[in-house]
Amino acid sequence: MTAALTVINTPNIDPLTLPFEQLKAGYQRQLFPSEDERRDRLNRLLKMLKAHRAELAAAIDQDWSGRAPTETDILEVFPAIEAIKHNRKHLHRWMKPRKQGVSIWFKPGKAWIQPQPLGVVGIVSPWNYPLFLTLAAVAGAFAAGNRVMVKPSEFTGRFGEVLAAAVAAHFAPDELVVINGGVETSQAFCALPFDHLLYTGSTAVGKAVMRAAAENLTPVTLELGGKSPVIIGTDSSLVLAAERIVSTKLMNAGQICVTADYVLLPVGSEEKFVNEAKRVARARYPNWPQDFSALATPRQRERIAAVIADAESKGAQLIKLIDAEDTATHFVPRIVLHATDDMRVMQEEIFGPLLPVLSYRALVDAIAYVNARPRPLALYYFGYHRQDIDKVLHETHSGGVTLNDCLLHVGQEALPFGGIGPSGMGHYHGEFGFNTFSKLKPIFHQSRYNGAPLLYPPFGGRVRAMLKFMLG
Ligand code: NAD
Repeated sequence: MTAALTVINTPNIDPLTLPFEQLKAGYQRQLFPSEDERRDRLNRLLKMLKAHRAELAAAIDQDWSGRAPTETDILEVFPAIEAIKHNRKHLHRWMKPRKQGVSIWFKPGKAWIQPQPLGVVGIVSPWNYPLFLTLAAVAGAFAAGNRVMVKPSEFTGRFGEVLAAAVAAHFAPDELVVINGGVETSQAFCALPFDHLLYTGSTAVGKAVMRAAAENLTPVTLELGGKSPVIIGTDSSLVLAAERIVSTKLMNAGQICVTADYVLLPVGSEEKFVNEAKRVARARYPNWPQDFSALATPRQRERIAAVIADAESKGAQLIKLIDAEDTATHFVPRIVLHATDDMRVMQEEIFGPLLPVLSYRALVDAIAYVNARPRPLALYYFGYHRQDIDKVLHETHSGGVTLNDCLLHVGQEALPFGGIGPSGMGHYHGEFGFNTFSKLKPIFHQSRYNGAPLLYPPFGGRVRAMLKFMLG
């Protein structure tokens, strides 16, 4: 295979234009890849991932100054493999023309939708799940028959280098290319005239990405963040809820876009929840910080330290879930009690191991609290009463929901993944990704004999009689 196109130092040629043009030319040479050709790309993606899995996980571990490779295997490699396999399994059905009904007026004509590759898709991914958020998106774009250009985060530089080398070893530069670089490179990347751009990252940068894409009228899918609430219902087991909320919250040290950001529980149950949370944290991490992820970047560490100081200075009570001291890279998980709206911990997405716990008197109050804030990427409800579940599902907005656990809706390849409002726009994963990365081209096939000429001018008695019939 041809050499890596990580950075191209050709004088006078913009380092992004050449790889982009190569991808575009590749697309133009093969406008509608066959099922076998798409399957071959998915197979090579899988082979590449399996061959470089340990190296990629080690690179993330180094980039972060601490992310257990086993956690990378569970939360990145496994779902990426599942995503590739799911695309491969359903490719045949998704690619087929989709027959649609026609109304009586257009019969015996026929209508169908023909999914068609868009061309060159750009994918910009963040540092928190650099592997999964890149490769699952590539799988969807490949299944739909596209060429792909990827820009990983500058905060996971080693990972980006390993990925670029792995990609160059398994793909031609007119199929898939990795571009590494900082914010300026990312800005130039987003200004390229892609046929579709998928961006995963913060809401603030998402706005800049959409502005850049607007110049080319490039359609965007924005996978952003937000404060995802957990509501614990009055009929829920607090022990079970704490077990699942705290176990998932502490994965990746809370640096998960869909992790529980804050908990709303029935008034009076705070103390029991805190005790359970301590029990769970200690059981998960008996030798903390072993198996616990670092805060991945200096910016993250400074931000979380400032959020803690801000909450403490404004009267919140921070309770450590593990008896230990913060290190330079690893922060002890904390429950935050008495958090108020003037604290940063309630104003911004936490994206770290802090969990504010608030109480409510009636479910309507918890729902009103959620609805008074920007629409989140995820919402979790613990409880079993059908009426309460329906009330929460019908009366709150969020990108997605897991009931009686956290995170797991994201792992369902059959479900669309994406935010709403400030937490994102558009969807991918599974068939929804295939559709996002395809033009769903509507086609009407007129029959040799049909009724349309009955309405052609001149508008005489024939047309009037026909119209009388049509308009009822
Ligand atoms: P980040 O800083 O790594 O940025 C993400 C990407 O944006 C990087 O590739 C970076 O190079 C690029 N970028 C930065 N500035 C840019 C600019 N001005 N123009 C164009 N591109 C630019 O990651 P982050 O933003 O710190 O990521 C964390 C956020 O991402 C959180 O809010 C989290 O909730 C969200 N997130 C969302 C999802 C999801 O699937 N919805 C998944 C993971 C993370």
